[in-house]
Amino acid sequence: MKAVIFVLIFFCFHRSFAQSDTILQHREKVLNGITQGQLPYLKYGPGIDRLGGAKMTYLDTAIVLQVVDSLRDDYIVRLSQNHHAFIPKENVMLCGDIKRNNYCLTSSWGVFGDEKQDYVTIGLDERLPYQSMQLIEPSRIVIDIYGATGNTNWITQLKSAKEIKNVYHEQIEDKVFRVTIELKHKQNWGYSIKYKNRSLIVAIKHQPDRLSIRHLKIAIDAGHGGENSGAIGVKSGIQEKIRNLQIAKYLENFLKRSGSVVYLTRNDDIDLSMADRTLILQEMNPDLLISIHHNASSNPNVRGVSTYYRYIGFKPLSVAVLERLKGLGLNDFGNIGSFNFSLSGPTEYPNCLVEVAFMSNEDDEKLINNPHFQKDVAKKIRQGVNDWIRTARRDH
Ligand SMILES: [Zn+2]
Repeated sequence: MKAVIFVLIFFCFHRSFAQSDTILQHREKVLNGITQGQLPYLKYGPGIDRLGGAKMTYLDTAIVLQVVDSLRDDYIVRLSQNHHAFIPKENVMLCGDIKRNNYCLTSSWGVFGDEKQDYVTIGLDERLPYQSMQLIEPSRIVIDIYGATGNTNWITQLKSAKEIKNVYHEQIEDKVFRVTIELKHKQNWGYSIKYKNRSLIVAIKHQPDRLSIRHLKIAIDAGHGGENSGAIGVKSGIQEKIRNLQIAKYLENFLKRSGSVVYLTRNDDIDLSMADRTLILQEMNPDLLISIHHNASSNPNVRGVSTYYRYIGFKPLSVAVLERLKGLGLNDFGNIGSFNFSLSGPTEYPNCLVEVAFMSNEDDEKLINNPHFQKDVAKKIRQGVNDWIRTARRDH
């Protein structure tokens, strides 16, 4: 009897292994690809809505990916045994014959700084994909490197690093290597993640030395433009792009009077894609960004002001701006987080999207078309930015 059971168990095990082997073999048909083009990015899945699929992260170019499948305009890539992501096909060049090692190891790190930024450099065997998160209280940047196995045996830390308090790592699961960077200041002033050859370089902006509005470089993005008019006023037919630019120019004026250096992504009624805006902003390298839009809803009764952020570390700016704007007697439509808006995606600088009021609501529209109101909006945004800077100074 025992022998029969043993044979049965053996047979079952053997069968299930044989089956899973075929599944594995089938799924092992992996193509190699490398990221290419402007602003490649990963998405969590196949979701599509008016903001596009939910973005995980922007990626550097020439990063090696394992392409396991495709769906519509995306490839599905395997990040690790338990993690997959989607990436637009145009961002991947397939190259089947790269020889890859089973293990991609991390090597030693360097931590140091210059006048403007601190750096964490992490040696890797290959340019692997990553994703970053911002954590607060205490303020941290956490980066998961997919496909990496820890072989970091020392971290050299130099005193020139001013913003980084601590760095450490953890192999959170097989081939997912987590890097944690603790910051000294409460406010996260932005960071970039890029490769230099095969070293991952995390560049972390210092808190500005002179923390006042007149010493900051502020970028303003007026939404839409050219062929892209945005929302339309329900009664007046006014185009959103016009009102966005008006407020942007008033804000530019007020900020310049306060002594700030100000950049506008557009000064005129021109077409500018989201990618163009992001690249322009990268070039500008501002201390912060304010995006200006006006809202619209299919429900004509919906009205009010709202501000938006994507990353929790940038939330305080959007809260401070909203608090001031509420002083204009507008309804509070809310402070909206995790917002998958293209210009909220970059991690390089704190940013805040303002949706001033609803063009689809008659009462809001009257305000939107009033030049005094437009100026007041710009003033309140400036005051909100100022409040936020003051809070950062207090937390210094
Ligand atoms: Zn808009």
